[in-house]
Amino acid sequence: ITISCIGAYLVGKHMEGLMVITLYEIGKILEEKAINKTRKSISDLMDIKPEYANLKTKDGIEVLDPSDVKVGDIVIAKKGEKIPLDGIVVKGTGSLDTASLTGETKTQDVKKDDQVLSGSIVLDGLLEIKVTEKYENSTVSKILELVENATDKKAKTETFVNKAAKIYTPIVLGIAALVAIFLPLISNVEYLTENGSIYRALIFLVISCPCAIAISVPLCYFSGIGKSSKEGILIKGSDYLDGIKDIKEIVFDKTGTLTKGQFTIDKVEVYGQLTKEQVLEYAVLGESYSNHPIAKSIIKKSNMEKYIAEHKEKVSSYEELAGKGIKYNFEGKVVLVGNSSLVEKEKEKSDSTKIYVKVDSEIVGAICLKDEIKHGTKAAIAKLNARGIITKMFTGDNTEIAEKIAKELGIKEVKSEMLPNEKYQELEKEIAKYENNGKVAFVGDGINDSPVLARADIGISMGGVGAGSSIEASDVVIMTDAIEKINDAIDISKKTSRVIKQNLIFSIGVKVLVLVLSIFGVANMWEAVFADVGATLITVLNSIKILK
Ligand code: ADP
Ligand code: MG
Repeated sequence: ITISCIGAYLVGKHMEGLMVITLYEIGKILEEKAINKTRKSISDLMDIKPEYANLKTKDGIEVLDPSDVKVGDIVIAKKGEKIPLDGIVVKGTGSLDTASLTGETKTQDVKKDDQVLSGSIVLDGLLEIKVTEKYENSTVSKILELVENATDKKAKTETFVNKAAKIYTPIVLGIAALVAIFLPLISNVEYLTENGSIYRALIFLVISCPCAIAISVPLCYFSGIGKSSKEGILIKGSDYLDGIKDIKEIVFDKTGTLTKGQFTIDKVEVYGQLTKEQVLEYAVLGESYSNHPIAKSIIKKSNMEKYIAEHKEKVSSYEELAGKGIKYNFEGKVVLVGNSSLVEKEKEKSDSTKIYVKVDSEIVGAICLKDEIKHGTKAAIAKLNARGIITKMFTGDNTEIAEKIAKELGIKEVKSEMLPNEKYQELEKEIAKYENNGKVAFVGDGINDSPVLARADIGISMGGVGAGSSIEASDVVIMTDAIEKINDAIDISKKTSRVIKQNLIFSIGVKVLVLVLSIFGVANMWEAVFADVGATLITVLNSIKILK
């Protein structure tokens, strides 16, 4: 634009030169308005940031910036306010709207001892909350940080634009110079006349200005990421957003991903002298140190908190054997709690998840657990299958249960009784099958499967709310437990890519048109600027479609 403007002035087209600059500047102002409008729509979507915290002090309430509140402080949240930091309710009851975190309009009723997340809105009630995380570590900051950083990680189309710009500018300048110098030699156009070769070269420069593409492509990705966050799907980079539409195969973990991971105790079997009660005591004592859904369920369903509290201190050398179970020492005995491979027992057919308890060298009993399929999973898998995506299941659980669940859900292929490292190796094989012709996603709950999540082309973790570690391990975090959100993410990815294509085709089309007109000497410089600014505005406004 600068060269064209100075050039126009030098070849005596003073008015043209002036108009180019004026129109270009007006265009910039309009573009900025449009971009700000889009950004505002995105930040309205992401309106989860708490502005203040009501700190409870000796003499009443002090209103503070959430980042000034310390862990252990008590904050008060009233009806209509946002919960400023993650914490635990110490007094009061209330109902919360967590839609801005999970994308689901479901109210959550909370009472004393319940965990609450920053960014939820108090619909009713009055809560006193003991802060458990500093503002920087609380859910709200993590989400905001993720969305802000996501757009820094460039997608291929973006880096393509950047790379192209490096070659593009010199080439365009070169062609303009060629037109200016050689056009008169091969035609009857002159150098400096009204519609001379220099003037035409200058128009060519204006037309080649790639504003529309350079501005609208990143904006589209930004909108796509903003829109998914609103739906409770955090996408950690525009390359992942772009990749989701190319998923050809999805591998699911079972426990906690397809199933609720909230087991009920079906029965307790005893094989020796110990009572059922004693078998459970050995199990809960060790499991009280584990985060596995099996551990949490056994603790919850056995109601032995008192026993655990009294004896927990006596547990030593606790160890977790991923995909197998746990091991610890208690009163001089070595205790194993886990599956048949951990306790070195022959596999037996069972339609429940059996957790054996072995004390020293004797298997004293087993706890039979039942899990349920998550609500809505069947329909979501059916939709994925209908899209032509291959669905598979990798699980550490026993073959009978794995096959039963896969059949019920319509999952095509199952691999069972796998250790975490086997899951990793098998996933690598799946990825190799596709080479560059499609992506393989792994969906897990972040427990025992972080390496697989990281290895997958797209690692998707479920139930991000409240599980900080899974947010780090994966590329896409689904804040709720709903598998259906994968379908939503695919739709957003497709829509984003569609809008980017529209923008590219439209802006390149306009450019080519004006280019042809200018070569025939029909287009003047104003029209070229108009076309450039117009195309940019239209593509920017078109990007907003993604947010709808
Ligand atoms: P999945 O692939 O279904 O998510 P995991 O790999 O997490 O399962 O675990 C596989 C198996 O290892 C479980 O089915 C269970 O038998 C055993 N296991 C893992 N962790 C524990 C634990 N903390 N306590 C008892 N058993 C466990
Ligand atoms: Mg698991």
